[in-house]
Amino acid sequence: MSNFEIVIGLEVHTQLKTKSKIFCSCSTEFKSPPNTNICPVCCGYPGVLPVFNKKVLELAVRVSLALKCETNKSIYFERKNYFYPDLPKDYQISQYKMPLGERGILELPSGKKVNINRVHMEEDAGKLIHKEDCSLVDFNRTGTPLLEIVSEPDIRSPQEAYDYLTYLKLVIQYIGSSDCDMEKGSLRCDANISLRRHGDTKLGTRVELKNMNSFRGVRAALEFEAKRQAKAIESGEKIIQETRLWDVDNLKTVVMRTKEQAHDYRYFPEPDLLDFSVSNELIEGEKALVGELPIERKERFLKEYKINQKEVDIILASPWLANFFEEANKAYPKSQELSNWLLGPFLEQVNALEKGFDSVKISTQKFAQIVRYFSEKKLNNLAAKKVLSLSIATDQDIDGIIEGEGLTQVSGEDQLSLFIEEAIKDNPKPVKEYLEGKEQAIMFLVGQVMKKSRGNANPQVAKDMLKRRIEE
Ligand SMILES: [Zn+2]
Repeated sequence: MSNFEIVIGLEVHTQLKTKSKIFCSCSTEFKSPPNTNICPVCCGYPGVLPVFNKKVLELAVRVSLALKCETNKSIYFERKNYFYPDLPKDYQISQYKMPLGERGILELPSGKKVNINRVHMEEDAGKLIHKEDCSLVDFNRTGTPLLEIVSEPDIRSPQEAYDYLTYLKLVIQYIGSSDCDMEKGSLRCDANISLRRHGDTKLGTRVELKNMNSFRGVRAALEFEAKRQAKAIESGEKIIQETRLWDVDNLKTVVMRTKEQAHDYRYFPEPDLLDFSVSNELIEGEKALVGELPIERKERFLKEYKINQKEVDIILASPWLANFFEEANKAYPKSQELSNWLLGPFLEQVNALEKGFDSVKISTQKFAQIVRYFSEKKLNNLAAKKVLSLSIATDQDIDGIIEGEGLTQVSGEDQLSLFIEEAIKDNPKPVKEYLEGKEQAIMFLVGQVMKKSRGNANPQVAKDMLKRRIEE
């Protein structure tokens, strides 16, 4: 393997987050029963006319800008002709000669720069469901808007391919153009891989890999294929340009078909859609929505909030969490305290909720209020966690919960002194032990005070008072 350099290029298809399809008003809802979101347009009936969905353009332009592509203002669609049972029109409306964006670049968190060859809009095909004795077709997905993102062959290892996909997904999720949910098929990836001897400038014969349904699957398929090609070249075999499928059960790639060329598709201009120009307003509007990319946001977080890199990485892995953290900071600018509570008790409780962040109702102000009350010793740790658990899915009034549950922390010495006296009187043995130098004995007494106050005492204050009172 070490004799060769691995050369990888990736083709990502991401489903743009629109309510309706690209050329008709059918819903893009994922869970609908088969063949219920269909109409004569997406089923390719004779005589129907496609109408372009403007939202597709907006979301696609946003990705093109985020990937620093040169965005073509002139929009031009073509027909890509091929027959397949899930393609009722026998052609796919796509962009070939003039893609929406060209010559972009994605800089990964590692500093590696991957050039983007092109991004273009197209419609998705339907879905075949293979049964034991027949195949069924569901046209619900036919006409769902896709953006294809093609990288240059700049990727040099299966792990780098994995890193590229992970970061590309984060960027697209951040700007809101797609959910990038591989399970729902809203992100799919094909890979091209070839080997060449170190120092060679000419690319080797590439093999296309399909059918990987996770990023880990992409990495595993590439690892297998690199080894297979290395072995073949070493033993004097010729690599054939072909498409191979990843067989996830047997962890190997198998031949699907020899690779077709672009001219096999007989691309020609889509006569039912007129060319048009993208307005400057639309581009400027989308530029504003791209905003800060995750890599830029990370640098700012490290500088602005002064929390450590590991914490920043966890917060930024979810745009939802990152926004929540930033908003909470506006209400209570103690970033470290907020981060501790967010990554600790908050995430713990979110994970226990059924639908994750979707079920979180607490406002950032109220979350910040709980953290502040803890810091000000108005709530002890246990009580603050309880208030959080009661408000996280409801956004109830925090003071109301504290009063209703009797959770106000007792840290006033007057209120505590009664419990302190009782604890000392009832437990002569630990008191004696403490006086004899056994530091630990004090914790037992603190426990007694906590119990008497029904958990509302401030343990630190109680400890100090106990020590003082015993030593008197
Ligand atoms: Zn339709």
